[in-house]
Amino acid sequence: MTPQTYPYEILNAGIAVIPVKYKDKRPDGSLLPQHSWDIYKTTLPSKKDLNHWFNTPHNYGVVAGWHGLMVLDFDDLDEYIKWQLWTSKNPKANFVARNAFQVTTSRGVHVYMRTSIPGTNKKIGKIDIKYRGYVLGPGSIHPTGVEYKTLKSVLFFPLISSLSDVLPTELLTQVVLPEGVKRPISSPQGSDPWEAAMTPQPVAKGAVSKIKSTLKIEDFFTNLRPTSKDGRWHMTTCPLHDDNHPSFWVDVKNQVCGCHAHCVDKPMDVIDLYARLHGLSNGEAIRILANSV
Ligand SMILES: [Zn+2]
Repeated sequence: MTPQTYPYEILNAGIAVIPVKYKDKRPDGSLLPQHSWDIYKTTLPSKKDLNHWFNTPHNYGVVAGWHGLMVLDFDDLDEYIKWQLWTSKNPKANFVARNAFQVTTSRGVHVYMRTSIPGTNKKIGKIDIKYRGYVLGPGSIHPTGVEYKTLKSVLFFPLISSLSDVLPTELLTQVVLPEGVKRPISSPQGSDPWEAAMTPQPVAKGAVSKIKSTLKIEDFFTNLRPTSKDGRWHMTTCPLHDDNHPSFWVDVKNQVCGCHAHCVDKPMDVIDLYARLHGLSNGEAIRILANSV
């Protein structure tokens, strides 16, 4: 595939692309309905649209969120190499590292995958996790003149079930949390999270009951508002989706919580909540919490 064919191939894979100004990161509003790319968050462009957009030199954006498309954006090569080294010890992550569509950026690498669990954009150190928005596709030219090039050129987006399938738990515990959410336990201290990830701590016995007796759901929120006189029910904005009005409920009596916007398919306990906030599997959440509470 030559760079010019990539927008078409990506569209054929069921993923939306949008026109971005040449050597720029901003959408080309002059080519978009109402100067906005919003429509392509929920509608695919046609091949005709692409012919029109790309008959002059343009960059293009690949829209995250389509078919669960999610992109790990490594800010620099050093971080990407640390990740590669870590994946060699983790079969699921290694599969992604070896097979996923990957693109070099001006300084780092984009790794494309799909997830069945929606989320909000996240940042952990030098890694951006893009569930929404768009990333420049291969063939685009960064404002500095660097061309985005494919590192793994097969358009394959492996399906992951949680971020801990592809990133070390020791790193995910350091994710920047949304507004209104705090960390009731300190993240495991110590050296470099990548080094800590190479020798993970085992799960202690009796972990689940120890966690539940120590850690309460309300400990995670800075602005819970009571909605019942007996102090049982509370509401706050949901940390799992871009929530404009409080959709997240907490039952402090039974220590369960959930979201009215259907972010979760069943009520969550404190371990489920910690897992979702950090993109961990339940087992990994228990391992980290048991060693922290
Ligand atoms: Zn929600």
